[in-house]
Amino acid sequence: MTDKFLKVEVDQAPDAKLPKRVSFSQMSLFQQCGLKYFFSYIDNWREPPTAALAAGSITHDVVERLYRLPNDERTLNKAIEILREYGPKFLAQPEYQKFADDLNMKHSVREAVENLFTVEDPTALVVQPEHLEMELNVEINGVNFFGKVDRFTQDGSNRVTDYKTGKSPGKFVDGKLAQPYLYALGYKVQHDIDVDEVELIYLNAKEVIRRQADWGQITKAGEDLAVMRAESESSFSESVWDARVTKLCDYCSFQEVCAARNPDAPKPGSQKSDEKLFSIGLLHK
Ligand code: SF4
Repeated sequence: MTDKFLKVEVDQAPDAKLPKRVSFSQMSLFQQCGLKYFFSYIDNWREPPTAALAAGSITHDVVERLYRLPNDERTLNKAIEILREYGPKFLAQPEYQKFADDLNMKHSVREAVENLFTVEDPTALVVQPEHLEMELNVEINGVNFFGKVDRFTQDGSNRVTDYKTGKSPGKFVDGKLAQPYLYALGYKVQHDIDVDEVELIYLNAKEVIRRQADWGQITKAGEDLAVMRAESESSFSESVWDARVTKLCDYCSFQEVCAARNPDAPKPGSQKSDEKLFSIGLLHK
């Protein structure tokens, strides 16, 4: 499908505001579709959790808990033990209970955890506990940026690593690397640390993508952040957001209230739009 843009006028609540801080996922969502960003971050709708989100969250939790253990305890058996203890607790949360019997999702998590021991040796990796899920909170190019970095390692090379579940990124790898590049800029600005390498580990795909940190890419990630903020400020001040039609629309929770997909859609942010979203089971944050 060819990408199509449509400017959509919305109703913004009198007390609506742009988020004070911008994360990579906010930036990525805005780049995917401005109108979807409006629904998620200005009109504050929460999309229902998916099985993929549940699988990713459980996997990240298991990997983090494993790496908080002493090196010699980071075995596959221990990882499975952690999964058996914390997986059910995660799935007991009300919004995730619907995945409690999802065998495909559970298989995907088990596969990701097992593959960790194929793509790297957890017993050999040197990582400080404070470098797991490390928070960045820093002004970059005038934008308040925040992020949580899965892992930062210093083994002769300063490396930022992000774990991913699901498919290999294939030809979209450069877009995915924008995340660790932006984190690398965050380390430089907040901690004056030069990141040497960025890394994405696709656990289910057993694929490790490691690149020398390229300052041009790092700078570009910071510039993209500033562009995103400036464009979102402009959309916000005009109450007009760009709907961008792509294949990803098929997975968007806001299709029924999006004029780019449904010519009869009510005005986003209006009472009719809200009623429609409530009727299909969406909730406010
Ligand atoms: S359906 Fe597509 S164009 Fe409409 S809000 Fe969702 S992602 Fe954007």
